[in-house]
Amino acid sequence: MTSIGFIGLGNMGLPMAKNLVAAGHAVTGFDLSQEALAALEAAGGTRADSAGAAARGVDVVVSMLPAGAHVETVYLGEAGVLAEAKAGALLIDSSTIDVDTARRVAAAAEAAGFNMVDAPVSGGVGGASAGTLTFMVGGSADGFAAAKPILDVMGQNIFHAGGNGNGQVAKICNNMLLGISMIGTCEAFMLGEKLGLEAQTLFDISATASGQCWSMTSYCPAPGPVPTAPSNNQYQAGFAAAMMLKDLNLAQEASGSAECQTPMGKRAAELYTEMAEKGQGELDFSGIIKMLQGAF
Ligand code: NAD
Repeated sequence: MTSIGFIGLGNMGLPMAKNLVAAGHAVTGFDLSQEALAALEAAGGTRADSAGAAARGVDVVVSMLPAGAHVETVYLGEAGVLAEAKAGALLIDSSTIDVDTARRVAAAAEAAGFNMVDAPVSGGVGGASAGTLTFMVGGSADGFAAAKPILDVMGQNIFHAGGNGNGQVAKICNNMLLGISMIGTCEAFMLGEKLGLEAQTLFDISATASGQCWSMTSYCPAPGPVPTAPSNNQYQAGFAAAMMLKDLNLAQEASGSAECQTPMGKRAAELYTEMAEKGQGELDFSGIIKMLQGAF
């Protein structure tokens, strides 16, 4: 049994923390929401009244927060994690945040004598509940080895992506590619249909040809070919367009600081911004086909 402080018990954090409790770990949680704290208690965890209090005395701290600013406050703020955690505690931030903040907070943690890894996830709320998340981990070999048994409880595939921040890099590069390939898939199926080619026929051909990609074969935005895809369920998320936009914006921010040209990533971010501004950010990200078709 490991003592774990869990900070950020939202849609993702709560089911992740519950899986740690179910595996026999002693979990002390903190969230700004009383409801979230009550839900953790009901599942067998303990509530703390601040992030620092959740971190105090535990072997491992896990955080699952909205964005870089929250992570910075929780770790570096007055009476925050770095001030309160015991020497040698392992710090795991699973939030999806900007690379620069992830590296800055990890450097501060290291300077204060902690081992910290960034470990963003993919797999969504379903994966968090089922304990089947994919973790992309950035940090030292020692940090990765120490984090692995904890991450194994919450996930199925755990990758070491390199030094601090590289978990975030892996996540935003993957999701930038996903956003671009989804829009490309939408365009191909729209053009095919306009020119008289049935979606199923294009799917059968392209799924075994060079246009093949996950956005088509597992998540086809045109209704029909992939029965489990959100396109057959009024584009209910799934993976909301607003969350895709968050990751595309993080990729653009990182492209800027790395001085790397990502024109397709930039265009994908613009199109998902338009979708969000039209009030459709809660639709699945494959629902962008409806916007491209002029439905909204
Ligand atoms: P969420 O908004 O449901 O949860 C965030 C929680 O953090 C909230 O309960 C909020 O009260 C809490 N919080 C905010 N500031 C805090 C503070 N200072 N101290 C303590 N708690 C604080 O978000 P989520 O969907 O759980 O996502 C969490 C992270 O996981 C995000 O970075 C998101 O991008 C990433 N992510 C989400 C999904 C998904 O499908 N929801 C998938 C992959 C990654």
